[in-house]
Amino acid sequence: MRREEAVVRLDSVSKVYGDVTALDDVSLEIRRGEAVAVMGPSGSGKSTLLNMVAGLDRPTSGSVVVNGEDLTGLGEAGLARFRRRQIGMVFQFFNLLDDLPALENVALAGRLVGVPARKARARAGELLDELGLSHRGDAYPAVLSGGERQRVGVARALMNRPALLLADEPTGAVDSKTGDQVISLLLDLNRMGQTLLLVTHDERLAAQCATRLVSVTDGRIVRTADLERGESWSAR
Ligand code: ADP
Ligand code: MG
Repeated sequence: MRREEAVVRLDSVSKVYGDVTALDDVSLEIRRGEAVAVMGPSGSGKSTLLNMVAGLDRPTSGSVVVNGEDLTGLGEAGLARFRRRQIGMVFQFFNLLDDLPALENVALAGRLVGVPARKARARAGELLDELGLSHRGDAYPAVLSGGERQRVGVARALMNRPALLLADEPTGAVDSKTGDQVISLLLDLNRMGQTLLLVTHDERLAAQCATRLVSVTDGRIVRTADLERGESWSAR
């Protein structure tokens, strides 16, 4: 896969809820290997943007293409399949299943795309190892620390080797020390080639992980800085 290849292409995407225009004619391309951080005030449309890319919601107008798949053309079943195979999602409040131990939470993502149980467990075990949680596989979410829960959430998101890892405020619900662990984990993943799209209020997360910053206000992209191309954020 060439680096210049676009993993995400939003073309004139608008999303209207009733009389609220959550996204207003947004175009954005994300190349393979980039780490894009979307920033902006509460209510500016950041989560809506992420949900369009994840295929969780549909644009009112415009097109969304992810990893070569035009989401506009997919029905509900096609979108569900797309999400499970192409997208890994990390959430602010982890969204782990409380009734399943850590290893099973991770393995489930594989089971949902048809990976046999033993194989899914084996890969889940490897991922937990890599994230420093090999000893926590049998632990239920309730006994895990915030940082451990978020690492389980990241392992789950990586289970199916997604083309794109999405994270909506991944450090929003953890203390700053744990936030540092999440930041360094995302940074490592991007350095290994994982394409990232992050929504965050966390300046440290953006400063340390992002290769490109995108600022959203009132549903529009008002500013971007491609740090890899030497553009600076503060100069404008
Ligand atoms: P952010 O993530 O930047 O805080 P959102 O994308 O969640 O912003 O929301 C953008 C705007 O769209 C807000 O005004 C919000 O109230 C509205 N909105 C988002 N989702 C919905 C929805 N499902 N139904 C109605 N309005 C929504
Ligand atoms: Mg949001």
